[in-house]
Amino acid sequence: MNRRTFLTDVVSTAAAGAVILSSKAQAMEAIGQVLCPQDESSWPREELELLGLEKPNDLRQDEHLPSLRLRARAYEAFLDMRADAKRQHVEMYPGSCYRTFGTQRTMWNKRFSVYHQKKFSPQQALDARMGYLAIPGTSRHHWGTDVDITGEIRTPEAHTLRARYFVTGGIFEDVAVWLRYNANTFGFYRVYTEKPGRTGFRSEPWHYSFAESALPSLRRFMEIEVSKYLVCAGVEGSEHLTPEFLDRYKQTFMLGINPKLIPAQN
Ligand SMILES: [Zn+2]
Repeated sequence: MNRRTFLTDVVSTAAAGAVILSSKAQAMEAIGQVLCPQDESSWPREELELLGLEKPNDLRQDEHLPSLRLRARAYEAFLDMRADAKRQHVEMYPGSCYRTFGTQRTMWNKRFSVYHQKKFSPQQALDARMGYLAIPGTSRHHWGTDVDITGEIRTPEAHTLRARYFVTGGIFEDVAVWLRYNANTFGFYRVYTEKPGRTGFRSEPWHYSFAESALPSLRRFMEIEVSKYLVCAGVEGSEHLTPEFLDRYKQTFMLGINPKLIPAQN
């Protein structure tokens, strides 16, 4: 991403509504004078990549499966896994893979404005969203290592990720069972498990991560000061996303995952 696309992105978001502008001003006051850079190259490229603000150099996209956008090693491993499943008559399809900061922000801000209209306070809106939607910049989908996997699409795309489809008798039961027994062989691990006591996001039977690439991404992500990026990039509610809040969020949500994907334990 060059300077112009970064700035255009931020400005067009800000122009979407006065609410965003006022929350940005409040955020800057709350977090302290965050200096949003005129030139994003002053921020480390590695950080921009992990936050979805810059595409990884080795991001690959499949011409037959356009939704399949992953970093090279994860991409190859997914295709191997898919081919193996197919040999066993299980049809597997990639849903959401690599996702930009901008896409996550659009989802976040849209839902945030719905809560605003319902007269929720920003804090109530944040509490309501937690567990369902990652704060822009913190989604594992920004890393190009994670993929939402479904079976043959028989419903509109927007409605494929429902837990009931992946249980016994569900339309994606065959995929869920195959992944449970075979995904690890190909280096993929389910992220949001049903393990009792796990914190963070609700269980997602469809979300798998390529550990070899995701482990170093998470290790590095934990060191990033995310709050300044949220303020500068027009994220709704960012006045409440203070460094302290984000530290707690990282512990609860980013580390509330399958232990196989936590760097310190691997
Ligand atoms: Zn996902």
